[in-house]
Amino acid sequence: MTPSPETAATTGSIDTVTVRPGHGSAPAAPGTPALPDVDLFDLRSLLPPDEQERLARIEAHLEEHVRPHLAEPWNTETLPVELLPGLAEVGLGELDHLGASRLFQNLAHVALARVDLSLSALVGIHNELNIGSIERFGTPEQKARWVPALRRFEALGAFCLTEPDHGSDIAGGVETTATPDGDGWILRGTKRWIGAGTVAAVALVWARDTTDGEVKCFLVPTDTPGFTATKITGKLGLRIMQNADMVFDDVRLGPDALLPGAGSFDATREMLRDSRAWVGWQGVGVQQGILRVLRDYALERTQFGRPLARFQLVQSAIAQVAGNLAACEGLMMQVQRLQDAGALEMVHAAAAKATSTRLARESAALARDAMGGNGIVASYEMARFMGDVEAIYTYEGTQSINALIVGRALTGVSAFV
Ligand SMILES: Cc1cc2nc3c(=O)[nH]c(=O)nc-3n(C[C@H](O)[C@H](O)[C@H](O)COP(=O)(O)OP(=O)(O)OC[C@H]3O[C@@H](n4cnc5c(N)ncnc54)[C@H](O)[C@@H]3O)c2cc1C
Repeated sequence: MTPSPETAATTGSIDTVTVRPGHGSAPAAPGTPALPDVDLFDLRSLLPPDEQERLARIEAHLEEHVRPHLAEPWNTETLPVELLPGLAEVGLGELDHLGASRLFQNLAHVALARVDLSLSALVGIHNELNIGSIERFGTPEQKARWVPALRRFEALGAFCLTEPDHGSDIAGGVETTATPDGDGWILRGTKRWIGAGTVAAVALVWARDTTDGEVKCFLVPTDTPGFTATKITGKLGLRIMQNADMVFDDVRLGPDALLPGAGSFDATREMLRDSRAWVGWQGVGVQQGILRVLRDYALERTQFGRPLARFQLVQSAIAQVAGNLAACEGLMMQVQRLQDAGALEMVHAAAAKATSTRLARESAALARDAMGGNGIVASYEMARFMGDVEAIYTYEGTQSINALIVGRALTGVSAFV
């Protein structure tokens, strides 16, 4: 009997697919069929050859020098700063700077999120919000002082918007104040959840100018007297990322602290829209990681005398994760198309972020279950993915807030209050 294409797969006769070592799974053993990459729809093939090579270099570095070293930092809630020079070496500190296409930048974010969401958050906020804000809103002197060191990860920045009493309602709720004092400013207030807050050299702080009521952005070197940052411990997710509570106790700043282009909250809306889209790509990356860890485990782990991959329900979980991933990839490519056309609106970014992180959360839960007890152990990676996905589900606008943005756009009726 001639096997159908579906049954042929079980006999090892697939020979048209290739594994790309470094970003799929482990290369197939001699004599066994090669398996397709977890980037099943081959987004990388849309890059020009030189960017494909650059991406492959990033992926190889992450695979060899980063991925094996993450369980311990996650368990101990520490940032492995020793990994930062390597990330800088492959260009992850200056994704905006090398004349790279938007797709290359997005796939570089995907590559990192496939390995770890904490480092992905660090690098994403660094590129999208910290360097992005200084480049867009800063003076030549401010750029010269901070950007070169940031690009090399010799200094880290922190983007400080959320406060203890204002999360979802921060746009209208900023209580931290900036009061003119001589030719400078005095900063008073508190911030919460700030990524890299305890290790940053410079904090980009959004504070309300007490003279005109506008929310403006200030560059605060973290060695300025009156500034303190305390790590938030015991998190379920993004345990490698150092999130902090910050206090600004009469912090005295010079006249050069204000980012002149960020004189109102409107300045940052465009950046927050784009960073929300970036979180959508994080959802793609983590699902690629989830898919490859699940598949590798299902092929390796034996129960009832056969690999888990031989059980239909396990294959169903693999297929659902692959479907969620593919849906998110297609969605994010559409987001990118709108960005390239200058037509991306907050409703698109909110819908994409909410959908991608929701599906990533579902994928993590499916895969965790299909790995049994080892699915909840950090050294098997899936537990880390699962915890970390909770954080991206919440930051950059919670699931509910993004749903409300989409609902308002589609109905014309605001349901925020
Ligand atoms: C790991 C992590 C990293 C972060 N990093 C940063 C950072 O680097 N910089 C920064 O500035 N911030 C950061 N944040 C803050 C993040 O943006 C906020 O946590 C987020 O906006 C939600 O705010 P909240 O936690 O105060 O929740 P709340 O606003 O208190 O919300 C609690 C719940 O109420 C719901 N809710 C609130 N309002 C409404 C409404 N009108 N209708 C329906 N439901 C509603 C929310 O959806 C949520 O489910 C980070 C957060 C986390 C968890």
